[in-house]
Amino acid sequence: MPPAPQAYRPATALADLGPAFSDAVSAANFPQQILRFRNDRAAASIGLDTLDDVEWIAHFGRFAPLPGTLPGPLALRYHGHQFRVYNPDIGDGRGFTFAQMHDDAGRLMDLGTKGSGQTPFSRFGDGRLTLKGGMREILATEMLEALNVPTSRTLSLIETGEELDRNDEPSPTRSAVLVRLSHGHIRIGTFQRLAYERDAENMRRLVGYVLRHLYGENGDDPLRLLNLIVERTATLAARYMAAGFVHGVLNSDNINVTGESFDYGPWRFAPTWDPGFTAAYFDHAGLYAFGRQPEAIHWDVMQLASSLRLIAESDPLIAALERFAGLYQPAVASALLWRLGRQPQDPVTDRALVQTVERALRATEAPLDRFFFDAFAQPLPDRYGSDWNDARAALDAYAPRKARDHSYWQGEPCSMLIDEVETLWSAIDERDDWAPLHAKIDAIRTMGEALA
Ligand code: AMP
Ligand code: MG
Repeated sequence: MPPAPQAYRPATALADLGPAFSDAVSAANFPQQILRFRNDRAAASIGLDTLDDVEWIAHFGRFAPLPGTLPGPLALRYHGHQFRVYNPDIGDGRGFTFAQMHDDAGRLMDLGTKGSGQTPFSRFGDGRLTLKGGMREILATEMLEALNVPTSRTLSLIETGEELDRNDEPSPTRSAVLVRLSHGHIRIGTFQRLAYERDAENMRRLVGYVLRHLYGENGDDPLRLLNLIVERTATLAARYMAAGFVHGVLNSDNINVTGESFDYGPWRFAPTWDPGFTAAYFDHAGLYAFGRQPEAIHWDVMQLASSLRLIAESDPLIAALERFAGLYQPAVASALLWRLGRQPQDPVTDRALVQTVERALRATEAPLDRFFFDAFAQPLPDRYGSDWNDARAALDAYAPRKARDHSYWQGEPCSMLIDEVETLWSAIDERDDWAPLHAKIDAIRTMGEALA
């Protein structure tokens, strides 16, 4: 029997948080609404897959309110450190949250936008998203979901018929509005703003909101919350590494307190295990390079802890922060073992395996996706030469996590390197050909099935 369809279960938790957290806004009036991507798998998890395309465009292109949830869009207020510099002038400048509901796992989810128009936080920005940026966000979220990284999902992409000027794309360039399904939109920067305003009452209220609605716990203990966030973000950092993913802009306003990855700009997947590999062309110092991501995320969580000083003592906050490294180590071992198709053994053996594999990956500069594809097989194929002797011995001592019998393993590894992203965009840009993008999404989902 197929699983019972998930009912649509709207929520209004954000409205209960009170007026100090957001500003009511409205969506831009777009000249066109062309549906380019509807994620029916994600929609099914919140009971919205039954919308027809006309209804879909009304809700996700014109933002007609969904029944039973927020009465209208809210631009959320937040601050943040951007490349380690504090910026109090940010907030939802090209997006808003317009609906909440529970998903098939019972979690409180938000629908948020990117590119839906200007807000009080837009500063000099146009409030818009480029179509290419939207396409890139689909690719990042689909790939990360398949690779077992907690991530927001891209629910919808609608092309909106405007011409945008950008300095990082040939301009004018096409516009779009994206809807993101995510487990909350409370960022570390949401707490930073309250600390900056010295607003202890709303800080306590926010702690209670996050504990209750996003962690399913009662109370408003900031220490308990910091401990939970340290656990989730250490896991996120570990999963990024095993996925070979470089987010690119790990500013504190881009870190969701649920430890779910989101807000995809200049991301890239690393072609090899190169800790210095950098995604954003403007990240000259390599602050957010591949191998520095755990440190960057930990730094952001430190900013959360210092914000919580407003309502908590510092010693236990510091103790919570100090757990990060000890949580990250086993999390990265288990994430790598998952991707390598191996059952974990014990912490010491697993850690030794990680080090051995990392050493071989760096020494040989092996293509990362090819290696993970090949290494899922047991034993490791012969063409991995003598540089791989130690890693081979370590890997072959592990029991397989699952049979390698999915048809995916008869083909080629699915990867997402920058040249392919550009090729997918060229087909859309030059010929309005969306077939390669949809074929790629299918291929990613097939990989996801093979790994799951
Ligand atoms: P991001 O780098 O996407 O996390 O954005 C950082 C800040 O800049 C946030 O406050 C965004 O809302 C804002 N922002 C980015 N792009 C635009 C835009 N085109 N128009 C208005 N605000 C923007
Ligand atoms: Mg952002």
